[in-house]
Amino acid sequence: MSESLIAAIKRLAELEQKVTPMPWSIDMQVDPKIVLRDTKFFIALRNAAPAMMKVLSLFEPGDASDLAFVLSGEWQPGTCVCESCQKTTATVRRLQKAARLMEAEG
Ligand SMILES: [Zn+2]
Repeated sequence: MSESLIAAIKRLAELEQKVTPMPWSIDMQVDPKIVLRDTKFFIALRNAAPAMMKVLSLFEPGDASDLAFVLSGEWQPGTCVCESCQKTTATVRRLQKAARLMEAEG
């Protein structure tokens, strides 16, 4: 995959608009006219899956609370050594890595 994951997900969303509507099942009736579209979507999804899983695996329980702490203005990165600030700094760095992986091409 040479495009960024951001570009891949945008392309997936475009392909997803043209496939058999959800829910999918193993015994579903598929319109023969859109089987190729389903296949193209599935191939794109399959090829993007490892990079998507790598990014998604960086999210952990409690991240939303840590980001709320950042937005509250109470987070003092680099100056406060309390447990909340240290934990939130680690969370922000981890999510920054996720964003970097989303933007990376290759
Ligand atoms: Zn603190």
